[in-house]
Amino acid sequence: MESTKYIFVTGGVTSSLGKGIISASLAKLLQARGYSVTIQKLDPYINIDPGTLNPYEHGECYVTDDGAETDLDLGHYERFLNVPTSQANNVTTGRIYQSVINKERRGDYLGKTVQIIPHITDEIQHRIKLLGKSKKFDVVITEIGGTVGDIESLPYIEAVRQLRYDLGPQNTLAIHLTLVPYLAASGELKTKPTQHSVKILLENGVQPDILVLRTEHELYKEIRKKVALFCNVMVDSVIESIDVSTIYEVPLRMKDEGLDVIALKKLGLDSKKEPNLTEWRAFLKRLKNPKSEVTVGLVGKYVELPDAYKSISESFIHSGAANEVKVNIKMIHSEEILAENIETKLVGFDGILVAPGFGHRGIDGKILAVKYARENGIPFLGICLGMQCAVIEFGRNVLNFKNAHSTEMYRNTPYPVIDIMDEQKAITDLGGTMRLGTYECRIESDTAAHKAYGKEFIEERHRHRYEFNNEYLDDYVNAGMKPTGINPDTNLVEIVELENHPWFVGVQFHPEYKSTVLNPHPIFKGFVKAMFDYNARQNKNG
Ligand code: GLN
Repeated sequence: MESTKYIFVTGGVTSSLGKGIISASLAKLLQARGYSVTIQKLDPYINIDPGTLNPYEHGECYVTDDGAETDLDLGHYERFLNVPTSQANNVTTGRIYQSVINKERRGDYLGKTVQIIPHITDEIQHRIKLLGKSKKFDVVITEIGGTVGDIESLPYIEAVRQLRYDLGPQNTLAIHLTLVPYLAASGELKTKPTQHSVKILLENGVQPDILVLRTEHELYKEIRKKVALFCNVMVDSVIESIDVSTIYEVPLRMKDEGLDVIALKKLGLDSKKEPNLTEWRAFLKRLKNPKSEVTVGLVGKYVELPDAYKSISESFIHSGAANEVKVNIKMIHSEEILAENIETKLVGFDGILVAPGFGHRGIDGKILAVKYARENGIPFLGICLGMQCAVIEFGRNVLNFKNAHSTEMYRNTPYPVIDIMDEQKAITDLGGTMRLGTYECRIESDTAAHKAYGKEFIEERHRHRYEFNNEYLDDYVNAGMKPTGINPDTNLVEIVELENHPWFVGVQFHPEYKSTVLNPHPIFKGFVKAMFDYNARQNKNG
């Protein structure tokens, strides 16, 4: 293709309308027609990245292969497109300002006054065009976080306006997502918020080409016509996005609404070939027709906000469908698990997952949950901190290492079974101290991990500071906790498993970041299968 086409997705009326899902769904449809597509998220906050943000603030921090700590929407992009993203796919206002200020300090602006327009807006445009310049993509979809009308989104809308002017209407497309509320008392759908939102965009110089309207009720013809007339778009460019039972249904809904066709037409691209969604539909069919159910207890400390464990819950959807099993997730607050109530808190689950996390809060409950899973032969998956808890628990209760701990929680523990490694110690700046991104791992044969992956070498993503302390390795191996996955370059332990347990796996990496609809993650698939088997055994015995 001659030049990359750019699609901009903005949102109005309220946040959380699902711009990420709409962007990912459109990208999926274009990809299914043979176009190469990537999606970028521009976040209007001042943090350099979400790495230092509390999950309560912004949900899960997603990690890419190249070790970028990013917005959780990038997880959706990867899960839908099955193509890895990178640091270039997520840029915040903080990062934009940081580069501009660095340039100013270097004297790159030759004594000029540095201003939002043109310097900040130029930097935004540069970041958008960077993905296009890689020549890898026919279409770049840029999702602009926040809501139009916010002070902080203004420079982004201005950058979009300028880019549209520079690149021309045939190379750019503006999609605006809004909400059409339903007033139950009068039984009416209301378009006024949409009209106002488009008005704000127009004031900022951007006329949307396509409107996607989130709604709980079907939009009848008259409503579409009214929106089209007042917002200056064609009627066929008013797209309904009605609530659906799973986000993975959205691409099909958008196809029915003709979002992909209208977008392609406006960009002057061929829209005749039907998208190939065979595998996607097969996944949805399996997802909607499970043959059995299991329930997993997810032990974590951010349970009030399900978005904090987004990739984990999506991984269960992918791997559940692959096994034709519906996986119910019950969140359990680790601070509420005590030795006295553990039976009531954890009874009845087909598997226990101890979640990733940082800091001391809730750690004791996580360790108790591991003990319960280990002693009762319940399938167990520990991810990152969850794996570290499994090591601590085994140290304390099997090896009799009194007060064994991670030095993250207890600096002077007599048994630092989880410790910070030397190269990590040297770095003190918060946000810069972590082992991030992809590392290789070699898997032992005849292990649960090998059975799951079916190969010797794998690559997985990391986000942690602390590691299994290899000084204690022999003690663990002799007592029955085996390192079944090792980093071949550094000898760091990546996976631990228990002998004499149906399925007990701890992973130092984050399998959840790499699970997609078309490639459900092997570890999650193995865990779901183990839960299914456990459930079958329980039913037979009970
Ligand atoms: N807090 C632990 C570490 O830094 C685990 C991190 C995690 O679970 N992502 O090593």
